[in-house]
Amino acid sequence: MTNGYIYKDVKRQEYRLLPNSKNIKTPLLISSCLLGHNVKYDGTNNCLDLKTIEKLKEKYLLFDFCPEVVGGLPTPRIPCEIISQNPLRVIDKNGDEKTSNFIIGAKKTAEFCKSKGIKIALMKANSPSCSNKFIYDGTFTSRKVKGYGITVDKLSENNIIIKNEKEVESLYQRIENKC
Ligand code: SF4
Repeated sequence: MTNGYIYKDVKRQEYRLLPNSKNIKTPLLISSCLLGHNVKYDGTNNCLDLKTIEKLKEKYLLFDFCPEVVGGLPTPRIPCEIISQNPLRVIDKNGDEKTSNFIIGAKKTAEFCKSKGIKIALMKANSPSCSNKFIYDGTFTSRKVKGYGITVDKLSENNIIIKNEKEVESLYQRIENKC
């Protein structure tokens, strides 16, 4: 039994297997730390439980990405917070300016999504790059305020749907509704 149908590629004069559209996985961007990569500021990760990862892999093609690493920051690194939205400013806990790293990371993530046809993302909550709901308030006192991470803001401009790890169930919902 095949997972698709056979068609003749006239140009190459050969038969090929075209998968059923039902079997084609949807590309999903995922924060690298959620997949277990040690890219978090303290050199650790925020790995989801294996069952969750397996369930995602059943229907999604996962592309992991860390905007802060791609933006040129080292791991481990001093934690950063957004201290101003307009003009946008990000500093680390030592007071050093890191805004450009965050802007580069956001831009590169958006370009990556475009190149892979990604329209949906699972991103880490509360991160100054990846959060879709709350961010730390810029005082380095663990207080949170409503707001987006810089990368998520950029992805939203490009109409990419963003969920965080606490909303992962809604990604399964989306799949089940589609099938
Ligand atoms: S920038 Fe995003 S992917 Fe990278 S460590 Fe922070 S939350 Fe994880």
